[in-house]
Amino acid sequence: MNDSDLNPSIVKTARGDAPAERRCLRCSAVFWSEGFGERICKRCKAQAAWKSAIPSANSGSGRRSAR
Ligand SMILES: [Zn+2]
Repeated sequence: MNDSDLNPSIVKTARGDAPAERRCLRCSAVFWSEGFGERICKRCKAQAAWKSAIPSANSGSGRRSAR
């Protein structure tokens, strides 16, 4: 009962759970998604991370002016 081992094409991963080429939801660029949950290209991801990494300081209304 080792027949299933001879048919790699039969092996199926859960849909959307396997690495594949997808389109970025942000810029519609085709990128390599490493699996489920990856719908944004690394570029946009970096941008998002970059954005969310920015502290809302230096805007003028900071409580840093403690003098
Ligand atoms: Zn993108």
